[in-house]
Amino acid sequence: MDGTDYDAIVIGAGVIGAATALSLAWRGHRVLGLDRLPAAGYGSTSGSCAIVRPFYSTHEGVAMGWECHFYWDDWAGYLDAPDAGALTRYIACGNTVVRCSKNNYLKHILKIMDEVGCPYEEVPPEALRARLPTVSLDSYMPARRPDDPEFGAPNGEAIPGAVFFPTGGYVTDPQRAARDLQEAAERAGAAFRFNAEVAEILRTDGRCAGVRLADGVTLRAPVVVNVAGPHSHKVNVMAGVEEGMNIKTRALRHEVAHVPAPHGLEQSKGGTHFSDADTATYCRPESGDHILIGSEDPDCDPRDWVDPDDFNRDPTEQSRIQVMRLAQRFPDIGIPARVRTVVDLYDVSDDWLPIYDRSDLPGFYMAVGSSGNQFKTAPLVGEMMAHLIEACESGHDHDAEPVDFHLRHVDRTIGMGFCSRRREINPNSSFSVVG
Ligand SMILES: Cc1cc2nc3c(=O)[nH]c(=O)nc-3n(C[C@H](O)[C@H](O)[C@H](O)COP(=O)(O)OP(=O)(O)OC[C@H]3O[C@@H](n4cnc5c(N)ncnc54)[C@H](O)[C@@H]3O)c2cc1C
Repeated sequence: MDGTDYDAIVIGAGVIGAATALSLAWRGHRVLGLDRLPAAGYGSTSGSCAIVRPFYSTHEGVAMGWECHFYWDDWAGYLDAPDAGALTRYIACGNTVVRCSKNNYLKHILKIMDEVGCPYEEVPPEALRARLPTVSLDSYMPARRPDDPEFGAPNGEAIPGAVFFPTGGYVTDPQRAARDLQEAAERAGAAFRFNAEVAEILRTDGRCAGVRLADGVTLRAPVVVNVAGPHSHKVNVMAGVEEGMNIKTRALRHEVAHVPAPHGLEQSKGGTHFSDADTATYCRPESGDHILIGSEDPDCDPRDWVDPDDFNRDPTEQSRIQVMRLAQRFPDIGIPARVRTVVDLYDVSDDWLPIYDRSDLPGFYMAVGSSGNQFKTAPLVGEMMAHLIEACESGHDHDAEPVDFHLRHVDRTIGMGFCSRRREINPNSSFSVVG
Protein backbone atom coordinates (compact mmCIF):
# COMPACT_ATOMS: atom_id res chain seq x y z
CA MET A 1 0.00 0.00 0.00
CA ASP A 2 1.06 3.61 -0.61
CA GLY A 3 0.08 5.02 2.78
CA THR A 4 -3.60 5.09 1.92
CA ASP A 5 -6.05 2.37 2.85
CA TYR A 6 -8.33 2.99 -0.15
CA ASP A 7 -8.45 5.07 -3.33
CA ALA A 8 -11.90 6.38 -2.39
CA ILE A 9 -14.24 6.33 0.60
CA VAL A 10 -17.97 6.81 -0.01
CA ILE A 11 -19.89 8.11 3.01
CA GLY A 12 -23.40 6.60 2.86
CA ALA A 13 -24.61 3.28 1.44
CA GLY A 14 -28.03 4.42 0.29
CA VAL A 15 -29.02 3.82 -3.31
CA ILE A 16 -26.85 6.70 -4.60
CA GLY A 17 -23.85 5.95 -2.37
CA ALA A 18 -23.88 2.24 -3.27
CA ALA A 19 -24.15 3.14 -6.97
CA THR A 20 -21.19 5.51 -6.65
CA ALA A 21 -19.13 2.82 -4.91
CA LEU A 22 -20.06 0.38 -7.70
CA SER A 23 -19.06 2.69 -10.54
CA LEU A 24 -15.74 3.54 -8.87
CA ALA A 25 -15.02 -0.16 -8.26
CA TRP A 26 -15.85 -1.01 -11.88
CA ARG A 27 -13.23 1.55 -12.93
CA GLY A 28 -10.62 -0.29 -10.88
CA HIS A 29 -10.47 1.91 -7.77
CA ARG A 30 -10.07 0.46 -4.28
CA VAL A 31 -13.34 1.62 -2.69
CA LEU A 32 -14.76 1.54 0.82
CA GLY A 33 -18.45 2.27 1.42
CA LEU A 34 -19.32 3.40 4.95
CA ASP A 35 -22.68 3.69 6.65
CA ARG A 36 -23.67 4.49 10.22
CA LEU A 37 -26.70 2.15 9.85
CA PRO A 38 -26.55 -1.68 9.85
CA ALA A 39 -27.15 -2.33 6.11
CA ALA A 40 -27.31 -0.73 2.67
CA GLY A 41 -30.44 1.28 1.88
CA TYR A 42 -31.59 1.60 5.52
CA GLY A 43 -31.61 5.41 5.38
CA SER A 44 -34.04 7.54 3.38
CA THR A 45 -33.79 5.09 0.46
CA SER A 46 -35.91 2.63 2.47
CA GLY A 47 -38.78 5.16 2.64
CA SER A 48 -38.69 5.96 -1.07
CA CYS A 49 -41.65 5.48 -3.42
CA ALA A 50 -38.97 4.63 -6.02
CA ILE A 51 -40.96 6.05 -8.92
CA VAL A 52 -39.14 6.27 -12.23
CA ARG A 53 -40.35 9.02 -14.59
CA PRO A 54 -38.89 11.15 -17.35
CA PHE A 55 -40.86 14.37 -16.77
CA TYR A 56 -38.87 17.11 -15.05
CA SER A 57 -38.75 20.89 -15.42
CA THR A 58 -35.26 21.08 -16.95
CA HIS A 59 -33.63 19.58 -20.06
CA GLU A 60 -31.01 17.77 -17.99
CA GLY A 61 -33.67 16.43 -15.61
CA VAL A 62 -35.72 15.04 -18.51
CA ALA A 63 -32.69 13.51 -20.23
CA MET A 64 -31.52 11.87 -16.98
CA GLY A 65 -35.03 10.68 -16.03
CA TRP A 66 -35.49 9.13 -19.46
CA GLU A 67 -31.99 7.61 -19.50
CA CYS A 68 -32.32 5.90 -16.11
CA HIS A 69 -35.43 3.98 -17.23
CA PHE A 70 -33.09 1.83 -19.35
CA TYR A 71 -30.86 0.98 -16.36
CA TRP A 72 -33.83 -0.28 -14.33
CA ASP A 73 -35.35 -2.02 -17.32
CA ASP A 74 -32.24 -4.24 -17.59
CA TRP A 75 -31.26 -4.24 -13.92
CA ALA A 76 -29.72 -7.73 -13.88
CA GLY A 77 -27.80 -7.00 -17.08
CA TYR A 78 -26.56 -3.67 -15.75
CA LEU A 79 -25.35 -5.25 -12.51
CA ASP A 80 -24.05 -8.37 -14.26
CA ALA A 81 -25.85 -10.22 -11.47
CA PRO A 82 -25.43 -13.99 -11.13
CA ASP A 83 -28.96 -14.45 -9.70
CA ALA A 84 -31.47 -12.14 -11.37
CA GLY A 85 -34.32 -13.63 -9.32
CA ALA A 86 -32.89 -12.24 -6.08
CA LEU A 87 -32.91 -8.63 -7.28
CA THR A 88 -35.53 -5.94 -6.85
CA ARG A 89 -38.04 -5.70 -9.70
CA TYR A 90 -38.88 -2.82 -12.01
CA ILE A 91 -42.53 -2.48 -13.04
CA ALA A 92 -42.43 -0.44 -16.25
CA CYS A 93 -46.09 0.60 -16.08
CA GLY A 94 -45.53 4.19 -17.29
CA ASN A 95 -46.64 7.48 -15.77
CA THR A 96 -50.02 9.18 -16.12
CA VAL A 97 -49.79 12.91 -15.43
CA VAL A 98 -52.86 15.14 -15.10
CA ARG A 99 -52.84 18.36 -17.11
CA CYS A 100 -53.92 21.33 -14.99
CA SER A 101 -53.22 25.01 -14.47
CA LYS A 102 -50.82 24.22 -11.60
CA ASN A 103 -48.45 22.50 -14.07
CA ASN A 104 -49.30 24.93 -16.88
CA TYR A 105 -51.11 22.07 -18.63
CA LEU A 106 -47.64 20.46 -19.03
CA LYS A 107 -46.85 22.88 -21.88
CA HIS A 108 -43.33 23.69 -20.61
CA ILE A 109 -42.52 20.06 -19.83
CA LEU A 110 -43.83 18.73 -23.17
CA LYS A 111 -41.77 21.33 -25.02
CA ILE A 112 -38.68 19.92 -23.31
CA MET A 113 -39.86 16.37 -24.05
CA ASP A 114 -40.11 17.25 -27.75
CA GLU A 115 -36.68 18.87 -27.75
CA VAL A 116 -35.10 15.88 -26.00
CA GLY A 117 -37.12 13.37 -28.08
CA CYS A 118 -38.68 11.55 -25.13
CA PRO A 119 -41.92 9.73 -26.07
CA TYR A 120 -45.36 10.50 -24.62
CA GLU A 121 -49.05 10.14 -25.54
CA GLU A 122 -51.95 12.52 -25.05
CA VAL A 123 -54.78 11.09 -22.93
CA PRO A 124 -57.98 13.09 -23.59
CA PRO A 125 -60.59 13.15 -20.79
CA GLU A 126 -62.71 10.33 -22.27
CA ALA A 127 -59.64 8.10 -22.66
CA LEU A 128 -58.62 8.84 -19.07
CA ARG A 129 -62.11 7.81 -17.94
CA ALA A 130 -61.85 4.61 -20.02
CA ARG A 131 -58.57 3.71 -18.25
CA LEU A 132 -59.67 4.82 -14.80
CA PRO A 133 -63.45 4.38 -14.55
CA THR A 134 -63.94 6.21 -11.24
CA VAL A 135 -61.73 9.22 -12.03
CA SER A 136 -63.27 12.65 -11.43
CA LEU A 137 -62.60 15.13 -14.25
CA ASP A 138 -63.27 18.14 -11.99
CA SER A 139 -60.54 20.55 -11.01
CA TYR A 140 -60.01 21.13 -7.27
CA MET A 141 -57.21 23.68 -7.30
CA PRO A 142 -55.85 25.24 -5.18
CA ALA A 143 -55.00 22.47 -2.70
CA ARG A 144 -56.39 23.27 0.74
CA ARG A 145 -56.17 22.11 4.34
CA PRO A 146 -59.19 20.19 5.69
CA ASP A 147 -60.13 23.06 8.04
CA ASP A 148 -60.77 25.24 4.97
CA PRO A 149 -64.55 25.29 4.33
CA GLU A 150 -63.87 24.82 0.60
CA PHE A 151 -61.73 21.72 1.11
CA GLY A 152 -62.79 19.04 -1.41
CA ALA A 153 -65.08 21.33 -3.39
CA PRO A 154 -64.56 21.40 -7.18
CA ASN A 155 -63.73 24.87 -8.53
CA GLY A 156 -66.07 24.69 -11.53
CA GLU A 157 -63.35 23.94 -14.09
CA ALA A 158 -62.60 20.58 -15.67
CA ILE A 159 -59.19 18.99 -16.20
CA PRO A 160 -58.37 18.63 -19.91
CA GLY A 161 -57.11 15.05 -19.59
CA ALA A 162 -53.61 13.76 -18.96
CA VAL A 163 -50.37 12.76 -20.65
CA PHE A 164 -48.93 9.25 -20.53
CA PHE A 165 -45.18 8.64 -20.46
CA PRO A 166 -44.37 5.02 -21.38
CA THR A 167 -40.72 5.05 -20.19
CA GLY A 168 -41.42 5.03 -16.48
CA GLY A 169 -42.75 2.97 -13.61
CA TYR A 170 -41.46 2.07 -10.17
CA VAL A 171 -38.97 -0.17 -8.38
CA THR A 172 -40.71 -2.60 -6.03
CA ASP A 173 -38.12 -2.69 -3.23
CA PRO A 174 -35.90 0.41 -2.97
CA GLN A 175 -33.89 -0.92 -0.06
CA ARG A 176 -33.16 -4.12 -1.98
CA ALA A 177 -32.00 -1.94 -4.91
CA ALA A 178 -29.28 -0.45 -2.69
CA ARG A 179 -28.32 -3.95 -1.58
CA ASP A 180 -28.19 -5.07 -5.23
CA LEU A 181 -25.75 -2.25 -5.92
CA GLN A 182 -23.68 -3.08 -2.81
CA GLU A 183 -23.41 -6.74 -3.83
CA ALA A 184 -22.38 -5.80 -7.38
CA ALA A 185 -19.77 -3.42 -5.94
CA GLU A 186 -18.43 -6.19 -3.70
CA ARG A 187 -18.17 -8.50 -6.71
CA ALA A 188 -16.09 -5.74 -8.33
CA GLY A 189 -13.78 -5.60 -5.29
CA ALA A 190 -15.33 -2.83 -3.14
CA ALA A 191 -15.58 -3.23 0.64
CA PHE A 192 -18.35 -1.96 2.94
CA ARG A 193 -18.40 -1.24 6.66
CA PHE A 194 -21.74 -0.81 8.44
CA ASN A 195 -22.46 0.64 11.89
CA ALA A 196 -19.55 2.92 10.99
CA GLU A 197 -20.28 6.61 11.58
CA VAL A 198 -17.98 9.21 10.08
CA ALA A 199 -17.17 11.85 12.72
CA GLU A 200 -14.33 13.78 11.04
CA ILE A 201 -12.98 14.47 7.56
CA LEU A 202 -9.16 14.34 7.58
CA ARG A 203 -6.97 16.85 5.72
CA THR A 204 -3.30 16.74 4.75
CA ASP A 205 -1.47 19.47 2.82
CA GLY A 206 -4.68 21.30 1.91
CA ARG A 207 -6.54 18.31 0.54
CA CYS A 208 -8.82 15.61 1.83
CA ALA A 209 -6.99 12.61 3.29
CA GLY A 210 -9.67 10.27 4.64
CA VAL A 211 -12.07 10.01 7.56
CA ARG A 212 -12.13 9.31 11.28
CA LEU A 213 -15.01 7.22 12.58
CA ALA A 214 -16.92 7.91 15.77
CA ASP A 215 -15.15 4.91 17.39
CA GLY A 216 -11.76 6.51 16.66
CA VAL A 217 -10.74 4.33 13.69
CA THR A 218 -8.83 6.29 11.01
CA LEU A 219 -9.26 5.36 7.34
CA ARG A 220 -7.00 7.04 4.77
CA ALA A 221 -7.98 7.79 1.16
CA PRO A 222 -7.24 10.71 -1.18
CA VAL A 223 -10.89 10.85 -2.28
CA VAL A 224 -13.95 11.05 -0.02
CA VAL A 225 -17.50 11.35 -1.37
CA ASN A 226 -20.38 12.75 0.67
CA VAL A 227 -23.50 10.72 -0.19
CA ALA A 228 -25.02 11.04 3.28
CA GLY A 229 -28.60 11.78 2.16
CA PRO A 230 -30.46 13.96 4.69
CA HIS A 231 -27.20 14.18 6.70
CA SER A 232 -25.40 15.76 3.73
CA HIS A 233 -25.36 19.21 5.32
CA LYS A 234 -23.79 17.82 8.52
CA VAL A 235 -21.06 16.01 6.57
CA ASN A 236 -20.34 19.12 4.46
CA VAL A 237 -19.99 21.16 7.67
CA MET A 238 -17.62 18.48 9.01
CA ALA A 239 -15.50 18.88 5.86
CA GLY A 240 -15.62 22.68 6.11
CA VAL A 241 -16.88 23.05 2.53
CA GLU A 242 -20.26 24.75 3.04
CA GLU A 243 -18.95 28.26 2.53
CA GLY A 244 -17.95 27.45 -1.04
CA MET A 245 -21.46 26.33 -1.92
CA ASN A 246 -23.99 28.72 -3.43
CA ILE A 247 -26.68 26.02 -3.18
CA LYS A 248 -27.07 24.30 0.19
CA THR A 249 -29.09 21.35 1.50
CA ARG A 250 -31.38 20.63 4.45
CA ALA A 251 -33.62 17.81 5.64
CA LEU A 252 -37.38 17.95 5.01
CA ARG A 253 -39.79 15.54 6.70
CA HIS A 254 -42.37 13.85 4.46
CA GLU A 255 -45.18 11.33 4.91
CA VAL A 256 -46.41 8.72 2.42
CA ALA A 257 -49.80 7.01 2.92
CA HIS A 258 -50.55 3.37 2.13
CA VAL A 259 -54.21 2.59 1.31
CA PRO A 260 -56.25 0.25 -0.94
CA ALA A 261 -56.06 1.20 -4.63
CA PRO A 262 -58.97 2.83 -6.47
CA HIS A 263 -60.41 1.05 -9.49
CA GLY A 264 -57.88 0.93 -12.35
CA LEU A 265 -54.75 1.71 -10.32
CA GLU A 266 -54.32 -1.80 -8.89
CA GLN A 267 -50.92 -3.39 -9.46
CA SER A 268 -52.64 -6.61 -10.56
CA LYS A 269 -54.49 -4.67 -13.27
CA GLY A 270 -51.45 -2.85 -14.64
CA GLY A 271 -52.09 0.40 -12.74
CA THR A 272 -49.68 3.21 -13.55
CA HIS A 273 -47.93 5.84 -11.51
CA PHE A 274 -50.37 8.77 -11.34
CA SER A 275 -49.26 12.36 -10.78
CA ASP A 276 -51.96 14.95 -10.07
CA ALA A 277 -50.72 18.50 -9.48
CA ASP A 278 -54.39 19.60 -9.37
CA THR A 279 -54.88 17.80 -6.02
CA ALA A 280 -51.17 18.15 -5.11
CA THR A 281 -50.73 14.38 -4.82
CA TYR A 282 -49.01 11.52 -6.59
CA CYS A 283 -49.48 7.81 -6.15
CA ARG A 284 -48.17 4.53 -7.43
CA PRO A 285 -49.37 0.93 -7.18
CA GLU A 286 -48.02 -1.19 -4.33
CA SER A 287 -48.30 -4.93 -3.68
CA GLY A 288 -51.60 -6.25 -2.34
CA ASP A 289 -53.43 -3.86 -4.69
CA HIS A 290 -52.69 -0.93 -2.45
CA ILE A 291 -51.22 2.42 -3.48
CA LEU A 292 -48.63 4.73 -1.95
CA ILE A 293 -49.72 8.40 -1.85
CA GLY A 294 -47.20 11.21 -1.58
CA SER A 295 -47.52 14.98 -1.63
CA GLU A 296 -46.50 17.43 -4.36
CA ASP A 297 -45.83 20.08 -1.70
CA PRO A 298 -48.72 22.58 -2.10
CA ASP A 299 -48.19 26.07 -0.72
CA CYS A 300 -50.84 25.57 2.00
CA ASP A 301 -48.85 22.78 3.71
CA PRO A 302 -46.20 23.91 6.17
CA ARG A 303 -42.71 22.66 5.31
CA ASP A 304 -41.28 20.62 8.15
CA TRP A 305 -37.50 21.29 8.07
CA VAL A 306 -35.86 19.08 10.68
CA ASP A 307 -32.63 17.96 12.28
CA PRO A 308 -32.07 14.50 10.70
CA ASP A 309 -30.93 13.21 14.11
CA ASP A 310 -33.98 14.46 15.96
CA PHE A 311 -37.38 14.40 14.22
CA ASN A 312 -40.83 12.90 14.69
CA ARG A 313 -40.95 9.43 13.15
CA ASP A 314 -44.65 9.02 14.02
CA PRO A 315 -47.36 9.78 11.45
CA THR A 316 -49.37 12.98 11.88
CA GLU A 317 -52.61 14.04 10.18
CA GLN A 318 -50.60 14.85 7.03
CA SER A 319 -50.80 11.39 5.46
CA ARG A 320 -54.61 11.31 5.94
CA ILE A 321 -54.85 14.74 4.28
CA GLN A 322 -52.96 13.33 1.27
CA VAL A 323 -55.44 10.44 1.06
CA MET A 324 -58.38 12.88 1.29
CA ARG A 325 -56.90 15.01 -1.49
CA LEU A 326 -56.44 12.04 -3.83
CA ALA A 327 -59.98 10.90 -2.94
CA GLN A 328 -61.17 14.08 -4.70
CA ARG A 329 -59.79 12.58 -7.94
CA PHE A 330 -60.78 8.98 -7.07
CA PRO A 331 -63.91 9.07 -4.90
CA ASP A 332 -63.82 5.26 -4.52
CA ILE A 333 -60.65 5.34 -2.42
CA GLY A 334 -61.40 3.77 0.93
CA ILE A 335 -60.00 5.86 3.77
CA PRO A 336 -59.10 3.47 6.61
CA ALA A 337 -59.60 4.53 10.24
CA ARG A 338 -55.82 4.29 10.66
CA VAL A 339 -53.82 5.20 7.57
CA ARG A 340 -50.61 3.20 7.36
CA THR A 341 -47.82 5.71 6.83
CA VAL A 342 -44.14 5.88 5.94
CA VAL A 343 -42.28 8.82 7.49
CA ASP A 344 -38.91 9.77 6.04
CA LEU A 345 -36.69 12.67 4.99
CA TYR A 346 -35.83 14.36 1.72
CA ASP A 347 -32.41 15.98 1.39
CA VAL A 348 -33.61 19.19 -0.27
CA SER A 349 -31.40 21.70 -2.08
CA ASP A 350 -32.28 25.40 -2.34
CA ASP A 351 -33.76 24.91 -5.83
CA TRP A 352 -34.88 21.27 -5.48
CA LEU A 353 -32.31 20.15 -8.07
CA PRO A 354 -29.42 17.86 -7.06
CA ILE A 355 -25.76 18.74 -6.43
CA TYR A 356 -23.35 16.29 -8.09
CA ASP A 357 -20.04 18.05 -7.76
CA ARG A 358 -16.56 18.48 -6.33
CA SER A 359 -16.04 20.84 -3.38
CA ASP A 360 -13.58 23.59 -2.50
CA LEU A 361 -11.56 20.95 -0.59
CA PRO A 362 -9.56 19.00 -3.21
CA GLY A 363 -10.44 15.31 -3.06
CA PHE A 364 -13.80 15.88 -1.33
CA TYR A 365 -16.88 15.36 -3.54
CA MET A 366 -20.63 15.31 -3.01
CA ALA A 367 -23.76 13.69 -4.47
CA VAL A 368 -26.38 15.46 -2.36
CA GLY A 369 -29.61 17.49 -2.51
CA SER A 370 -31.58 14.64 -4.08
CA SER A 371 -34.75 16.56 -3.10
CA GLY A 372 -37.14 13.61 -2.97
CA ASN A 373 -36.74 12.75 -6.66
CA GLN A 374 -33.38 11.12 -7.36
CA PHE A 375 -33.87 7.46 -6.41
CA LYS A 376 -34.46 6.72 -10.06
CA THR A 377 -31.23 8.31 -11.26
CA ALA A 378 -28.98 6.48 -8.77
CA PRO A 379 -27.25 4.04 -11.17
CA LEU A 380 -26.67 6.88 -13.64
CA VAL A 381 -25.46 9.26 -10.91
CA GLY A 382 -22.96 6.62 -9.76
CA GLU A 383 -21.45 6.69 -13.25
CA MET A 384 -21.55 10.48 -13.44
CA MET A 385 -19.77 10.80 -10.08
CA ALA A 386 -17.05 8.30 -11.05
CA HIS A 387 -16.51 10.20 -14.32
CA LEU A 388 -16.35 13.55 -12.51
CA ILE A 389 -13.96 12.26 -9.83
CA GLU A 390 -11.56 10.78 -12.37
CA ALA A 391 -11.58 14.02 -14.40
CA CYS A 392 -10.91 16.22 -11.35
CA GLU A 393 -8.26 13.89 -9.91
CA SER A 394 -6.49 14.02 -13.28
CA GLY A 395 -6.25 17.79 -12.92
CA HIS A 396 -9.34 18.98 -14.83
CA ASP A 397 -10.74 22.28 -13.47
CA HIS A 398 -14.43 21.33 -13.35
CA ASP A 399 -15.43 24.67 -11.80
CA ALA A 400 -13.94 26.61 -14.71
CA GLU A 401 -14.94 24.16 -17.42
CA PRO A 402 -17.69 21.74 -16.29
CA VAL A 403 -17.26 18.17 -17.53
CA ASP A 404 -19.77 16.65 -19.94
CA PHE A 405 -21.41 13.28 -19.51
CA HIS A 406 -22.81 11.17 -22.34
CA LEU A 407 -26.13 9.40 -21.70
CA ARG A 408 -25.58 6.29 -23.77
CA HIS A 409 -29.14 4.95 -23.99
CA VAL A 410 -30.77 8.17 -25.15
CA ASP A 411 -27.61 9.30 -26.95
CA ARG A 412 -27.48 12.77 -25.47
CA THR A 413 -24.67 14.69 -23.75
CA ILE A 414 -25.34 16.85 -20.70
CA GLY A 415 -23.04 19.36 -19.02
CA MET A 416 -22.55 18.57 -15.33
CA GLY A 417 -22.42 22.30 -14.57
CA PHE A 418 -26.20 22.13 -14.17
CA CYS A 419 -25.71 20.26 -10.86
CA SER A 420 -22.87 22.44 -9.61
CA ARG A 421 -22.75 23.61 -5.97
CA ARG A 422 -21.85 27.05 -7.28
CA ARG A 423 -24.79 27.49 -9.69
CA GLU A 424 -27.32 30.24 -9.28
CA ILE A 425 -30.79 29.04 -8.24
CA ASN A 426 -32.32 27.48 -11.38
CA PRO A 427 -35.53 29.44 -12.11
CA ASN A 428 -36.89 26.61 -14.31
CA SER A 429 -37.22 24.29 -11.31
CA SER A 430 -40.69 23.40 -10.02
CA PHE A 431 -39.31 24.06 -6.48
CA SER A 432 -41.08 20.88 -5.43
CA VAL A 433 -40.54 17.14 -5.48
CA VAL A 434 -41.29 17.23 -9.22
CA GLY A 435 -37.76 18.69 -9.63
C1 LIG B 1 -40.76 9.51 1.30
C2 LIG B 1 -39.86 9.55 0.11
C3 LIG B 1 -40.36 9.26 -1.15
C4 LIG B 1 -39.50 9.32 -2.26
N1 LIG B 1 -39.97 8.96 -3.48
C5 LIG B 1 -39.15 8.98 -4.57
C6 LIG B 1 -39.60 8.55 -5.83
O1 LIG B 1 -40.74 8.13 -5.98
N2 LIG B 1 -38.73 8.58 -6.89
C7 LIG B 1 -37.45 9.03 -6.75
O2 LIG B 1 -36.72 9.06 -7.75
N3 LIG B 1 -36.99 9.44 -5.54
C8 LIG B 1 -37.79 9.41 -4.46
N4 LIG B 1 -37.34 9.78 -3.23
C9 LIG B 1 -35.95 10.27 -3.11
C10 LIG B 1 -34.96 9.13 -3.05
O3 LIG B 1 -35.45 8.10 -2.25
C11 LIG B 1 -33.65 9.66 -2.50
O4 LIG B 1 -33.23 10.71 -3.36
C12 LIG B 1 -32.58 8.59 -2.48
O5 LIG B 1 -33.03 7.42 -1.83
C13 LIG B 1 -31.37 9.15 -1.75
O6 LIG B 1 -30.39 8.17 -1.71
P1 LIG B 1 -29.03 8.50 -0.97
O7 LIG B 1 -28.16 7.31 -1.15
O8 LIG B 1 -28.51 9.82 -1.42
O9 LIG B 1 -29.46 8.76 0.56
P2 LIG B 1 -29.84 7.79 1.77
O10 LIG B 1 -30.61 6.60 1.34
O11 LIG B 1 -30.45 8.64 2.83
O12 LIG B 1 -28.45 7.25 2.26
C14 LIG B 1 -27.55 8.07 2.98
C15 LIG B 1 -26.84 7.18 3.94
O13 LIG B 1 -25.80 7.93 4.57
C16 LIG B 1 -25.64 7.43 5.87
N5 LIG B 1 -24.95 8.42 6.68
C17 LIG B 1 -25.36 9.68 6.99
N6 LIG B 1 -24.44 10.29 7.74
C18 LIG B 1 -23.42 9.42 7.91
C19 LIG B 1 -22.19 9.46 8.62
N7 LIG B 1 -21.80 10.56 9.31
N8 LIG B 1 -21.39 8.37 8.60
C20 LIG B 1 -21.76 7.24 7.92
N9 LIG B 1 -22.93 7.15 7.25
C21 LIG B 1 -23.75 8.23 7.24
C22 LIG B 1 -27.07 7.17 6.33
O14 LIG B 1 -27.11 6.22 7.37
C23 LIG B 1 -27.75 6.68 5.05
O15 LIG B 1 -27.86 5.28 4.98
C24 LIG B 1 -38.15 9.71 -2.09
C25 LIG B 1 -37.66 10.00 -0.81
C26 LIG B 1 -38.50 9.89 0.28
C27 LIG B 1 -37.93 10.19 1.64
